[in-house]
Amino acid sequence: MSLLVTGTIGIDTVHTPTGKAEKVLGGSCAYFAAASSFHSPVRVVGAVGGDWPEDHRKVFSSFPNICLKGLEERKDSRTFAWGGRYFENMNERETLFTELGVLEEPPPQVPEEYRDSKYIFLANTHPEVQLELLSHFPDRKLAVADTMDLWINIAHDELLKLFRELDGIVINDQEAEQLTEISNAISAARKIIEMGPSFVVVKKGEHGAILVHENGVATMPAYPSDLQQVIDPTGAGDSFAGGMMGYLASKDAADFRSIQTSLAWGTVTASFTLESFGLDGLLNTTRDEIQNRMKVFQSAARIGE
Ligand code: AMP
Repeated sequence: MSLLVTGTIGIDTVHTPTGKAEKVLGGSCAYFAAASSFHSPVRVVGAVGGDWPEDHRKVFSSFPNICLKGLEERKDSRTFAWGGRYFENMNERETLFTELGVLEEPPPQVPEEYRDSKYIFLANTHPEVQLELLSHFPDRKLAVADTMDLWINIAHDELLKLFRELDGIVINDQEAEQLTEISNAISAARKIIEMGPSFVVVKKGEHGAILVHENGVATMPAYPSDLQQVIDPTGAGDSFAGGMMGYLASKDAADFRSIQTSLAWGTVTASFTLESFGLDGLLNTTRDEIQNRMKVFQSAARIGE
């Protein structure tokens, strides 16, 4: 079933305690699209500027299931750019700079042939843009969005307006607390459900994720960390959402149990992103490797009687 994503396509510069990646392809939409493409074909709606490097296009185009007909190149504009630095524990980071560029301009156009999309993911970008783009998909079956601290701070009212139109929200624990002023993740998620959506996925980094749904609650552990090396966590959240939504679109399902299973696919898909800088972890993996890792994860998370 058709999956569509909109969000940022960025030029990222990332510092970690062990290394640095300069001006690599990033952005919420890029990570989501790459991760989801292992599970389902995905349509991209986004914009970049005249400064978008040709090798970024080549990287993006090398994922076979990504359709880039909705990617606008604006010659006289600048591409969104972001810089971040991770602290020693790799769980927390600070933003060094955000250059909004094309994000300060009107939203990208939605190609006519994308309008029948059923599974919509509004990856992290300005909530006003998320809301505007959502209105182009009247036949949608599932609309889910992500957000982050910047938008909670500077576009709070627009965010609340967006929440009323959504089925689900994917958010990390710090952002959920910032939004609700409640530190317990489940209670914060319940408060967010009162704002409109029927489910919330709270990401808790190395402690996994929690699904709070009108029909139940489910927990998902993180992929066991001694089985992998964390090199760069950038985009892990978007990759998680990509694995999750890609699975749901491939099954054409949006019930509580399917969403619960989708959290496992999100976790396993994102585990590849963590292993290298930028999109390299996803570039160097295959659908078979993701499936093999899923088997390891299923066995690690098994609960006996
Ligand atoms: P994550 O690590 O999942 O939060 O995603 C990191 C990605 O989000 C990076 O590739 C950035 O380019 C992008 N990003 C950073 N800040 C923003 C923002 N305010 N809005 C949208 N995308 C952002």
